[in-house]
This record gives sequence, C-alpha cells and structure tokens, in this order.
Amino acid sequence: MSKSEKFNPDGIALRYGHFIGGRFVRPPGDGSLEIIRPSDFHPLGTLPEASAATVDEAVAAAKAAFRSKQWGGLSPKERANLLKRFASVLASHGPELAELEAVTSTRLLAETRLREANIAVELLNYYAEYIDKIDGVVTPSESGSLSLILNEPYGVVAGIVPWNFPMTGAMAKIAPALAAGNTVVIKPSELTPFSALRVAELASEAGLPDGVLNVLIGTGAVTGTALVKHPDVRKISFTGSTATGARIMADAALSGNKPVTLELGGKSPVIVYSDIADLDTVAGLVTRGFLYNGGQVCTAGSRLIIDRKIKDALVERIADNIGKAVPGATWQAETTLAPIISQKQADRIDRLVRKTVEEGAILRAGGGRVEALNAGAFFQPTILDGLEKHMTGFREEFFGPVIAVQTFDDPEQALALADHPTYGLAASIFTNDMRRAMRTAKSVEAGTVWVNQHGRGLDLTSPGGGYKGSGFGKDWGRQGMDAYMHQKAVWINHG
Ligand code: NAD
Repeated sequence: MSKSEKFNPDGIALRYGHFIGGRFVRPPGDGSLEIIRPSDFHPLGTLPEASAATVDEAVAAAKAAFRSKQWGGLSPKERANLLKRFASVLASHGPELAELEAVTSTRLLAETRLREANIAVELLNYYAEYIDKIDGVVTPSESGSLSLILNEPYGVVAGIVPWNFPMTGAMAKIAPALAAGNTVVIKPSELTPFSALRVAELASEAGLPDGVLNVLIGTGAVTGTALVKHPDVRKISFTGSTATGARIMADAALSGNKPVTLELGGKSPVIVYSDIADLDTVAGLVTRGFLYNGGQVCTAGSRLIIDRKIKDALVERIADNIGKAVPGATWQAETTLAPIISQKQADRIDRLVRKTVEEGAILRAGGGRVEALNAGAFFQPTILDGLEKHMTGFREEFFGPVIAVQTFDDPEQALALADHPTYGLAASIFTNDMRRAMRTAKSVEAGTVWVNQHGRGLDLTSPGGGYKGSGFGKDWGRQGMDAYMHQKAVWINHG
C-alpha cells in the first residue's frame, strides 16, 4: 500500500452468524458476543455464541456430510480436485481476505497481503497433492492370510484456534483434515471469528458439500467445551495456551478418550554465541523474532541468551531497532508495531513486566503502554535485562513485544540457561560455527530449532509443534496430515 492510499476499515463486509451445513445461522437460543476491532476498539457488531444445542447442530451437519456420497463417497482424486478448486476460489478473493484479516485482527495489512491469503491457498494445494499419494501397507503376514493397513479419516474433527493468526491458524487444521477425508467444525477465537466465517462461505462457493466445513462462534467456556465433549467429535486439534490445552485434554479424555493434537505456548530461547559475523544482521533478526505481530506469536523469541562479550553491543542495536517501531492501526502503511489484541491482554503484559522488574530484572527499554495513541491497546517494545529463573518473566509467556535477557560467560552454560521447565516450542541459535550449531540444535529440547534465523517464513513444508508442555502432534508439513488419519488393520484369510 502506498502511503497516500486511503484504506477504509469500515468498508469491510462481515458475516454475523455461525456457518453450519452450508449457510449462516443465528439460532434464537444462543447467547451474544460483542466483537471489537483490535486497532481502535471500534465495535464490529454482535455475534451469537453457540450454545450446546447449536454445537450439536454443527456436529450433526458434519457427521452427515462425512457419511454422504458427496463427500465420504468421493474418490481421492475427486477430493483433491475439490480442494484445489477451493484453493483457487480463495486465491481469487486474496485481496479481500487480506483486508478482512487485517481489519479484524492484529495482523498488519502489509503482512496479510503478503502472507495470509497466500498461505491459506498454499496449504490447500499442498495437502490436496498428498491425497492420492498416501498408500496403505501390506504387512508380511503368514501364508494363507493377507494383512492390510488402511489409513482412514477420523470423521468429525473439531479445530479450536487462537486469535493471533486467525486465518492461517484455522487453515493449518482445515486443509490437512479435509485432505484426509474428515469433515470439520472450526471454533475460531471469540475475538477474531470473521476470516474463518468467510473462508467457510467460500468453501461452499467452491462446491464443498454442505456440512463439510462448519464454523462456530463462541467462547471456550461455552462453545469450546461443548464441542470438545461432544460424543460425535472423533478428533480434536487445538492451538492455544498451555493451560487451555490441559483442560481440553482432560475433557477429551473424560468424554470418550478422544485423540488430541495440542499446539501450545512457548518461551522460546534465542541463543547468540560471540562468534557471529555481523551484529547488525543478528540484531535485526532477533528484533523481528520478538516484535513480529506485536510479539503475539507462539514461537516468539522472548528470551535472549547471549555471551557477555557481545551482550551490550547487541542489546544496544536491538534498542535502536525497537526505537524505530511505529505503533498504529493495522491498515496504516507506516505501522510496523501491531496492536495488542485486547485491553485485558495489554494489562496482563503490563503486570508481568512490572512484576519481573520488582523481582530484580532491569528495564533497558520500553516497559509500559504507548500513551500517544488513544485508541486500541499498544505496548512499548520492551527489553528486560538480568532475567533469572525464579522471575515471573522467565516462567510466564508475555505474548507481547517483550524480550528478556539472560547472559552466559562460558558457551557451555547456554544450554542450561535455555532449558525451560514448562515450554519447548522453538529455539534459535546464532553462530558461525556449524559444529556448535548442530550440537546445540540436537541438545535443545524444542520442537523447532532455527539456526541463524528466527521464524518459519512462508515455508509450509516443515512440521511445527512442541516438546514438553508446549504440546504434541504436528501442524504443517507432511506430518500435519498424519494427525488426521488413524490406521485400521484388515486381515483376510484366503488359505
Ligand atoms: P486460549 O488458550 O485462551 O484460547 C485458544 C482457543 O481455545 C480459543 O478459541 C478459545 O475460545 C478456546 N478455548 C478456551 N478455553 C477452552 C476450553 N475450555 N475448551 C475448549 N476451547 C477453549 O489462547 P489464546 O489466548 O487465544 O491464544 C494465545 C495462546 O495460543 C498462547 O499461549 C500462544 O502461545 C498459543 N499459540 C500456540 C501456537 C502453536 O502453534 N503452538 C500458535 C499460536 C498460538
């Protein structure tokens, strides 16, 4: 967007009902939710909150679609073609989806134009390509018998997603689940439901049969719980906080031992050794690693673990970088610092930062609200020095634009500092010594390790997921599709 281009956030069309069985509905028994625009807290309208009865309706629609000839009866090739058609309809609405996502979430318009719509399209095409290439197995069974292993879809899959990447987060579940032959009920975050609703509507326009993809609006306490506990849901794929993941796992266990994939929180270390060639480049990558989307990223590099020899020089450069961050509405061309999703979340970040300082951390930059802006909630990019393991800022996810620094004198200490008792989602290592990089990468307990970069970029081919309390199972990559199939052994006696 050029700086002179005028963008009207009020001109965005929104959908105001659940999407169930191929149409928008607002059942009279539902509660209601006020939705606001994160950039300026402008009200976007009132949406229904799916009650248990509405959840039941959505799951019934998904169950019927799973059993239908129009979906369950499709050949793999036909299913692949349908998903590719869905991808091409999304692609033709790319600009609209990018604007919708930017206005109704914390994602900057420049980013959503580059990433969100493209990733959604790519995910569908990527998984569609696997559909007719996944073979079963014939096992080496005894003579007179034939033993087969078949990959089968689960049936109705519930996908529950957070607010930080609403569209790509939902699509990371929708695309592989549909590719595997399941039907889906998505529950987006109650703070950011709009892009998932439009995606489901476009799926219908592309010819996906009614009930194959449904979207329910609602909070976790009401809608999410009812969905997880529903007896006809066969698999739950959840992305969100570690605490909610634990609750969902318990509910899934107590309501039929349902399998779960859990993509949870992180407290990802960024380990910087003193042999790096270029401080400016590394400072740029570390800054982006914790500021991207206002730090509201599960894999945010929120702990800088750095050799004392280069600490001051690197921290100074990071402080320079963050001084240039421009907070503002997501649709403004000059904005580089995203808003915090809600006042509640901004208050939480503030509280965690203050507590960590009271416990002995030193504030090197930022540390409070951006007061100049009188709409929305913005937090100053913040650097905390002297983080120690007993501090709140070590234990808890900030989920905001905050990085906390831990320092080592001996490179051997770096791994011990990086180790976290709860989280193991991601880590990054900056060094020019590839032997050290590989040694560290193999030792660090994290589901994703980056060397000389922090973040996934636009590449979908590699799986993401946690170690330890950061969860289990994978989204993305080939492994992301395995999560939506179970295996059946079939024995044939022909002796
Ligand atoms: P959250 O856990 O509060 O909510 C996530 C989703 O779960 C929302 O849709 C919410 O309505 C729903 N939910 C809440 N309670 C529920 C319950 N009892 N039963 C069913 N559903 C329930 O998380 P959030 O604040 O929306 O998102 C931020 C969190 O998500 C952070 O912890 C972040 O690290 C994590 N996250 C993880 C990944 C990953 O891939 N590992 C990606 C993005 C975000």
